[in-house]
Amino acid sequence: MSAEPEKPKVDVSRETLAEKQTRALAVLERLEREYPNAKIALDFTSPLELLVATILAAQTRDTLVNSITRNLFPKYPTAKDWADAPIETLRAELKPTGFFNNKAKAVQESCRALVEKHGGQVPDSIEALTELPGVGRKTANVVLGNALGHPDRVAVDTHVRRLSQRLGLTKNDDPDEIEKDLEKLWPAERRTRSCHLLQFHGRRICTGPNPKCEACVAKDLCPSAFSLEKKKREKKPGKKRPAASSRKKE
Ligand code: SF4
Repeated sequence: MSAEPEKPKVDVSRETLAEKQTRALAVLERLEREYPNAKIALDFTSPLELLVATILAAQTRDTLVNSITRNLFPKYPTAKDWADAPIETLRAELKPTGFFNNKAKAVQESCRALVEKHGGQVPDSIEALTELPGVGRKTANVVLGNALGHPDRVAVDTHVRRLSQRLGLTKNDDPDEIEKDLEKLWPAERRTRSCHLLQFHGRRICTGPNPKCEACVAKDLCPSAFSLEKKKREKKPGKKRPAASSRKKE
């Protein structure tokens, strides 16, 4: 017989900024212990490779991107190589990533801009990066934080957004606003790392449709603990509750 799930113990409605900072740090410490090897999932050896990989990763699994870039990075080692490639060839090579017409265009145009305006190098500022065609703030922050030595950058992807909301670290839905909220909570030198930790936890435990709160190391620090499971059960009366211990592999 399965016991009733625990209720969330954290009420963030009157939490001060200082209290939220303390709780956010406590969550990070737990996740750091749980995932000491957390790191960005995309493979790269240079800022250019990470820029291209991040553009290709939109709406696509990172493992699939890695399997494609493994062959393409040696073929296109410089921004000029990407810029000069026949677009039809690029489209065919990027087809498995989905949205390949847009991605081929974005990669090629951003690399042309690198060649024309930045001597073929990836610029080291959020302003210059977000001026590149096809490069938004999230992509720019990924590159700055992981390949250009700016650990203070927060890249809000789907995992960071979902987990920061569930953990009560933000009330916002807009990624730019979430970025600002998290900057207030996380120490500057740990922000990029903190994104990796949320991403690892989001892929393994706090998954999109079915967070596994029972197995979560931060459940006593989370205002959403067990409430999503409860809502689901209430929506589907008569449906059997899945075993809390069932972990899905990535
Ligand atoms: S798994 Fe549950 S308890 Fe853990 S962060 Fe996600 S919603 Fe909160």
